[in-house]
Amino acid sequence: MNRALCALLCALLLTLCACAAPEPEEAQASFFAMNTYMTMTAYGANAQAAVDRAQARIEALESLWSVTQEGSDIYAVNHAQGQPVAVHEETAALLSFALDMAEETGGALEPTLYPVLAAWGFTTDAHRVPEEAELAALLENVDYARVRLQGENVQLDPGMMLDLGAVGKGYAGDLAAQALREGGVESALLNLGGNVQAIGARPDGSPWRLELPNPFGEGGLGLLLAQDCAVITSGNYENYFVAEDGTVYGHILDPETGRPADSGLASVTIVAQEGRLGDALSTSLFVMGAQRAEAFWRERGGFDMILVTQAGEILVTEGIADAFTPYEDQAAVRVLTREVRADAGHFSQENLE
Ligand code: ADP
Ligand code: MG
Repeated sequence: MNRALCALLCALLLTLCACAAPEPEEAQASFFAMNTYMTMTAYGANAQAAVDRAQARIEALESLWSVTQEGSDIYAVNHAQGQPVAVHEETAALLSFALDMAEETGGALEPTLYPVLAAWGFTTDAHRVPEEAELAALLENVDYARVRLQGENVQLDPGMMLDLGAVGKGYAGDLAAQALREGGVESALLNLGGNVQAIGARPDGSPWRLELPNPFGEGGLGLLLAQDCAVITSGNYENYFVAEDGTVYGHILDPETGRPADSGLASVTIVAQEGRLGDALSTSLFVMGAQRAEAFWRERGGFDMILVTQAGEILVTEGIADAFTPYEDQAAVRVLTREVRADAGHFSQENLE
C-alpha cells in the first residue's frame, strides 16, 4: 500500500472514530445552600470528583458567611459587641472586597445594612414596614467606612452588623469555579440561585446559551451567548413582599433611605470575568438607577450589563450587544456605547447598528 493511500485511510479512520466518540462525561450536583437552590454541570473525565469538591467548597463558605448560623464568622462579628474577631482568610477577603466595592459605588453597596434589612423582616420572612423614625435610628449604625478590617481581624462598633449576602454568592461561585478548574474541568456551568458562572464553552466548543430572567413575569427576557464569565442578575422582582395596601416592597434597599430601591429599574444583569464583581455590581447598580449605572460603566469599565427599566426598555452595553437576543422582536433595546459623539453631544447607539 502506498503512503498516500495509507494516510487517506488513517484520516478516514480518525474521522470515523471522532464521529463515534461518546458524549463527554457529564457530572452534576444540585443542592440547597446560601438560601437558594444551586446546580452545577461539568464535563470531562474526573468531572464528578471536581463537582463534589466545588459543592463542598460552597458549603464550607456558607458555614463561614451565614448571618444566621451561630458559629459562622459573620455571626461572631455581628455579636462581638465592639470586640475584634479573628475570621478565616476567605471571610477577610470577601469583606475586603465588599468594602472596596462599597467605596467604589459610593455606598450603593452597603455591607453593614443588616439591621435595616432585619427591620423590614427580610432576614426572617416576618415582613413589616418600619416607621421613618425607626429607619432613621437604624441608619445611624449603617456605614461601611466604620468597619475596621486589619489582616484577618474585624471590629464593628456596637450596634453595627454585617450582611454580605449581596456579594457572597458571587464570591462563592468564583471559588467553586476555581475548585472545578483545579480538578481539570474546562467546561462547566454553575447556577447558584440565578448567579450563573460559565467555565469555558459547551463541550462542543459553542458558547453557552443562557436565558436571562424576565423581571415582569414568566418566561425569559432573552438569550445571551456567553463563555468563561459570570452572568449575574439582581432585581426587586425576585424577593419582595406585598403590604396590606398593595404596595410592593423589594429586598434591595437604598442605603441612603433604608427603603427598597426605587430607581426606575426592574432588573440589572452584569456580565463580568468574576462572579464577585458581577454580584456586587448587580445589586449596587440596581440601587443607582439607569443614569448613574451608565455613567459608572462608562467611567469604570471592566464589565458589561443589561438594564431593564420599569418602563420595559432594555439597555445593553456594546460589549455584549451582539450576544444578546431578546425574545420579543418588538422589545425596545438601546445599545450603550463608550464613545461620545462629538457632533451630537450625547451618547449614541445608531453607529453600532
Ligand atoms: P440575591 O442574593 O437575592 O441574588 P443580590 O445579590 O442582589 O440578590 O443581594 C440582595 C441581598 O443583599 C438582599 O437580600 C439583602 O440581604 C442584601 N442587600 C439589600 N440591599 C443591599 C445594599 N444596598 N447593599 C448591600 N446589600 C444589600
Ligand atoms: Mg448581588
